[in-house]
Order: sequence, then structure tokens, then C-alpha cells
Amino acid sequence: MIDKELKNKKDCMGCHACANICPKNCISMEVDEEGFLYPTVDCSLCIKCHKCVDVCPIINKTKVENNPIAYSCINNDETIRLDSSSGGIFTLIAGKVIDQGGVVFGARFNERFELEHNFVETKEGLNQLRGSKYLQSKIGDSYKQAKFFLDSGRIVLFTGTPCQIAGLKSYLSISYINLCTIDIICHGVPSPDVWCRYVKFRETKAGTQVQRIAFRQKDEGWKQYSVSFLFKNDTEYRQNLFKDLYMRAFLKDVCLRPSCYDCRFKSLSRESDITLADFWGIQNILPQMDDDKGTSLVFINSEIGQTLFEEIKDGMLYQEVDINEAVKYNSAAIKSSRPNKNREKFFKDLSSLSFDRLVKMYCTDKLSIRAKKFLKSILKKITIKLGLMKVIKKL
Ligand SMILES: Cc1cc2nc3c(=O)[nH]c(=O)nc-3n(C[C@H](O)[C@H](O)[C@H](O)COP(=O)(O)OP(=O)(O)OC[C@H]3O[C@@H](n4cnc5c(N)ncnc54)[C@H](O)[C@@H]3O)c2cc1C
Repeated sequence: MIDKELKNKKDCMGCHACANICPKNCISMEVDEEGFLYPTVDCSLCIKCHKCVDVCPIINKTKVENNPIAYSCINNDETIRLDSSSGGIFTLIAGKVIDQGGVVFGARFNERFELEHNFVETKEGLNQLRGSKYLQSKIGDSYKQAKFFLDSGRIVLFTGTPCQIAGLKSYLSISYINLCTIDIICHGVPSPDVWCRYVKFRETKAGTQVQRIAFRQKDEGWKQYSVSFLFKNDTEYRQNLFKDLYMRAFLKDVCLRPSCYDCRFKSLSRESDITLADFWGIQNILPQMDDDKGTSLVFINSEIGQTLFEEIKDGMLYQEVDINEAVKYNSAAIKSSRPNKNREKFFKDLSSLSFDRLVKMYCTDKLSIRAKKFLKSILKKITIKLGLMKVIKKL
């Protein structure tokens, strides 16, 4: 039914709202050839109630109008900040919700390093949610679980990409005063299958299994962060974001979900209560808030967001900023990533080429290939000249 209503498969952003709402459980999320999840309907069980169509946040997209206030923020707890992707504001907010007896939903790795949405109820549990993981997380039945907690009166903090928050809100259909939502400024989400292959590639290289992965190791600074894999034999792989093979594929936009190239949630008017992001360009706007350990850009989009923000003010350094100035350095807030022209070839060769070969083939700058050719031709000329000189000298 969903296929009939959505004009193109590429419009589906995999939020799982349809699968969560189906009263007959006849919608399953199936992996396609690129490794992304899409809804599939078991027509023999479908009672044509249309709930799946009515809940789809793409089919029923409505305009959101709000005037966010933007802040530059730094968590006072240095250890948490260094362990977080930006300024560690997620943990500060989530900790407050847990102190009030609430439940926090977010993306965490399972034991096979697949990314899933799940909930935690303790501050220790937040360790699993902390930090960006650059791939699409599987929502599973977390919207249903969130509704259960909301209906039983618990405070719920639900965090995710803007499309996941839109999916949740559409699924819930009514406003809850005990719900707070946080979205991130999102560059786009890579394929879980590409990620899985990369983890296997690293494990094969290391000759052992991975025990911990951090996308944002800030030892050499927040702006030049590294990806780190800690293996079970206590060896570590660590590489700068621009050199790590997976991050190169991510940043070259070669393996994002098709819907990310035309994201419907790019706007300064957000569906969430709070938006979190990296404050890129902070050195130009508020240099006194840049120590290269991570600064968050935070939008407060609603009254619920404002109340929570007031409650965490004691735990951070913050300053209001002009939102338009702030997003000048963070175009992902308002613009979709552009598809890499090698995307199709990348996915076609994904299962046949080794990961390093794949990235070398399809994620190298054209300019650098040209530059290499140019350098080679110059070197060739120099070598020929030097050769001739030797011959002349001998005469
Ligand atoms: C795929 C992706 C793309 C991003 N693109 C940008 C960008 O272009 N510009 C920018 O400024 N910021 C981007 N971010 C956000 C940024 O990296 C930080 O996550 C954000 O600033 C919050 O940082 P923090 O230090 O407050 O908390 P952190 O502890 O670093 O953030 C953790 C929060 O992120 C959530 N999270 C982690 N991975 C995922 C995921 N795959 N899907 C859904 N939720 C997830 C967790 O559930 C938790 O709520 C992106 C994040 C992700 C996951």
C-alpha cells in the first residue's frame, strides 16, 4: 500500500512509522540491495485500514513554522565533552531527563556493531547512546515503546535524525507534554551494509574482532578528529577523518540513503524541541568558545525545549548567537547533500571489490588524479632530461 502512495521508492526515508502503526503487523522492513530498510506489505494479512499511508511523514508532510533561538554551548564536564561528538550537550540534557525518572531513546551499537534505536533508563546507559555513529540506525519498534512510556506518564526524551523525529511525531499523532524530542543537523545517513563491510574489513586486517568503535576521537582536536577501532586483542586502529576509508566514503556522499539527497526536513523550522549540531566556524563567530575540544550549536525550537534548556544552564557555558550567521558554516541544516556521480558504480562493486579498492576507485578527488597525472608527466620529462645530461656528460 505504501508503495502505491509514495511516488518513488527513493522518497521513503525508512522511519518505520508505517511498520509501527500497522494493527496487523503485516508491514516488515526489508533490506534492499544497497543495505537500506524499506517497508514491505504482506497483502494476505492487510485489512486496508490505510493507517500506514496516513502515518507516512512524507505523504502527509505539513509545514512547520517556528523561530528557533540559537546558542553556542559547552558542557562543563570535560570528560563527557571529550567523549561526545560536539560539546556534549546531549548527555547533559539526557542526564536531566533521567534525574527526573525519564527514559531516553537514541542510537546504539548492538554486539555485532549494527546500529539500532533503543532506550536507556540510567546515566551509565547513556554511554551507549553518546557519540555520533555515521550510518542509518534501525528504529525497530522504538516508536511503540516510546508511546508505552508516554501513556504511562514517564518523561520521554527521543533523539534521532530529523526524519526519525518526524516519523515519531506522526506515529504518536497527538502532543504529549511529557515528550521532548532532539534532532541533529544531519549530513545524511550511509548504508548499514557499507558499514558492516567496513567493520569486517577492519577485523580481517586486525585478525581479531572489534570491541569498541569511536567515530570521534578528539585527541588531535575536534576539527581533525579520528576514527578509532579497539580490537579484542587490545590493539587499536586509529585514523584521521579525511584518511579513514569509511569516513571518506561518507563525506564524499557516495553511500547515503537515496532520500537524503532530497531531504524534506532541511529547514531552520524544525519538528523537534531541540536541535543539536557541531558548531563549525565557531572560531570565526565566538573564538573565545573554541578550544578545539568540541562546541555545540543548539537550537531551541519550542517551549518544551526552552524549559529543558533552562534546567541544564548550570552545567554548561553558553552564549546566544545569530542563527543565520551560525548556519553559514553548517549548510547541512538547510541543504541536502549532492549525490556523488560514482554512487551507482560504488554500490555495484560493493560486494566484489575489497573496501580499500572500492574507496580508492570511487572516492578519490578527480583533481588529485589529474594532479597525479600532471606530476607524473613532469617527473617523466625531468628523468628524460637527467638521462640526456648523463649521456652528454659522458661524451
Ligand atoms: C549521521 C549523522 C550526520 C550528522 N551530520 C552533521 C552535520 O552535517 N553537521 C553537524 O553540525 N552535525 C552533524 N551531526 C551531529 C553531530 O555529529 C553531533 O551528533 C551533535 O552535535 C550532538 O553532539 P553532542 O556532543 O551534543 O552529543 P553526542 O553524544 O555526540 O550525540 C549523541 C546523540 O546522537 C544520536 N545519534 C548518534 N548517531 C546517530 C544516528 N546514526 N542516527 C540518529 N541519531 C544518532 C544519539 O542517539 C544521541 O542522541 C550528525 C550526526 C549524525 C549521527
